[in-house]
Amino acid sequence: MKQTVVTLDMEGVLVPEIWIEFANKTGIEGLKRTTRDEPDYDVLMRYRLDLLNEHQLKLSDIQEVIGTLAPLPGAKEFLDELRTLSQVIILSDTFEQFAQPLMRQLNWPCLFCHRLVVEEDKIVNYQLRQPDQKRKAVAALKGLNYKVIAAGDSYNDTTMLGEADQGFLFKAPENVIAEFPQFPAETEYDQLLDRIKGEPG
Ligand SMILES: [Mg+2]
Repeated sequence: MKQTVVTLDMEGVLVPEIWIEFANKTGIEGLKRTTRDEPDYDVLMRYRLDLLNEHQLKLSDIQEVIGTLAPLPGAKEFLDELRTLSQVIILSDTFEQFAQPLMRQLNWPCLFCHRLVVEEDKIVNYQLRQPDQKRKAVAALKGLNYKVIAAGDSYNDTTMLGEADQGFLFKAPENVIAEFPQFPAETEYDQLLDRIKGEPG
């Protein structure tokens, strides 16, 4: 029997959507733009970084706001219990510096994500570690002879879910559930935990 690794998306699964919450807290409406409004990720990120600079927001200002956000209710308990059952890796398309204040509240789980380029507290650029990193991480773990169970909530998770031995949608919007019926969908942490426990080892 194979050993298991669980890979989890972060935003929407364990913590709120960082850009949306940041926009709400700061009142900068333009930061609510998402990949649904602007499908070119690079264009979207440049636009966001320009807006941050325009409002003279430094990395430490942003981290302070993110520090006021909390993980989703029940997320920490879910993650704590899951980590007693299996190795867990969070695969997120966020940046190390944004995730930090939330990872602290989740007791520093293992996180693979991207990184911002920061000079003297100013965000000057962003660096994707590699494209399609969620799927590639799952493929690499399978190459290490692990069984991989994955869960995520959105389009940027579907290649990860497809690559995994078993993928679950979690707290996903209706349109994603309808478009990807091959992935069982759950909305509550205890249900997802039961699903994971029920996977043959
Ligand atoms: Mg997500």
